[in-house]
Amino acid sequence: MATNTGEPLVELRNVSKHFGTSRGLVEWTLGREPTPVRAVDGVSLTIERGDVVGIAGESGCGKTTLGKLLVKLHEPTGGEIRFDGRNVADFSREEEARFRSRVQMVFQDPFQSLNPRMTVYDSVAEPLVVNGLIDDHRGRRERVIEVLSDVGLSPGEAYVDAFPNELSGGERQRVAIARALVVDPEFVVCDEPVSMLDASIRAGVLNLMKELREEYGLTYVFISHDLSLVRYMCDETAIMYLGDVIERGRTADLVEDPKHPYTEALFDAVPVVDRHGDRERADVTGEVPDPRDPPAGCKFHPRCAYLIPPDEWTGSQDAFRRAHRFKRRALAGAIDGEEYDGDSGTTSRDEAAETLLRRGLALEVPRERQHGSRADVRSGGRIDVDALELPPEAESILREAARNLADGERESVERLLADEFTTVCEREHPAVRQAGDQETRCHLHGTSPESD
Ligand code: ADP
Ligand code: MG
Repeated sequence: MATNTGEPLVELRNVSKHFGTSRGLVEWTLGREPTPVRAVDGVSLTIERGDVVGIAGESGCGKTTLGKLLVKLHEPTGGEIRFDGRNVADFSREEEARFRSRVQMVFQDPFQSLNPRMTVYDSVAEPLVVNGLIDDHRGRRERVIEVLSDVGLSPGEAYVDAFPNELSGGERQRVAIARALVVDPEFVVCDEPVSMLDASIRAGVLNLMKELREEYGLTYVFISHDLSLVRYMCDETAIMYLGDVIERGRTADLVEDPKHPYTEALFDAVPVVDRHGDRERADVTGEVPDPRDPPAGCKFHPRCAYLIPPDEWTGSQDAFRRAHRFKRRALAGAIDGEEYDGDSGTTSRDEAAETLLRRGLALEVPRERQHGSRADVRSGGRIDVDALELPPEAESILREAARNLADGERESVERLLADEFTTVCEREHPAVRQAGDQETRCHLHGTSPESD
């Protein structure tokens, strides 16, 4: 877009934010190491002056934490953040103060971000006072009225003395935006800026934000779980998954030609995106892992439709994905004999094992992601094992594992499966690689011997 200058404004280099790294009472008492949440985990990102960058991903993936790192509301636990060429950790007191007025954040909830006991004037003028920007009262009042008009609350005089509870949700969010803009910032991070607003007024607020970008010469980051918003607002988008940025590029490229299976699955779930009807869909399975204990290798691999079989695998990719999933769940104790006891009135061990196998090889794609064609959907979660393209030796291992599960012999199951159905996706955390015009972390796009 016209206002992008190609000059980096914010640069993140391998930035992490881990929460809960110090021992709490429980860890202390039990002599345990704490298990931190890796909310942001080694993210590198450059935001150029004039960019509008989207940060998207499911709830809990680290978007808000990343946004707060960008405006220094969080200190990173690792890596480096540069603003306008300077490491923000090295700021002098003056630079820090200056930074506080050059960057601003708009939060999701205008009810929380505005103090109910402060008038609109007090709320909007506060950053001027805190940053020591306009000393005289009259000047401040003029500036507040001006910025209120800029955000569509005009005449500003009609709003300055109101309290938040006298305003609608949309007006309140405009006040929150005014509060961010009053200091004439260069960089504004908007965290789910319209998600608390009625659908009918969202477009108005978003269009306003687009206009303000021109007027104020802003560089924006829009954080949203809503991909249609990101598509509407952002030239560039970074997709996050469990603390990683797994794909980054021009929004249009991400929509048209996603490189990461997770990006593809996310955009597939957006109804407004029209797709060529015959395209294979990436059915991601449902479970979102615990951020305290993310999966090894590619964090997305347990859900991925394109899990990569090893070179020696002779069956289909779909069969490998199912076998791998069976193994993972069996080793985690998520498939066991008792679970299905009496389920279909079976008593024989072989029948129980068969049930475990058929259930264990099903994918459990959540309803909203099911695309109707899969055997799983038709069979109600029981797969026809013979219809899968499983190599004979893999099938016999799985059958034996299922019999062991039916007998409750966990150790035999572990011995049998531990070294089977292995994939690079589980072994190595993929490095960031170029794929077409995007950058992505996915083993489908080249593999490197070193893991990072
Ligand atoms: P998102 O905005 O994408 O929903 P967040 O950045 O809010 O994600 O959270 C990412 C992860 O970090 C979550 O698991 C969340 O529980 C955790 N988290 C966020 N803030 C804190 C905090 N202050 N203390 C401990 N854990 C946190
Ligand atoms: Mg959030």
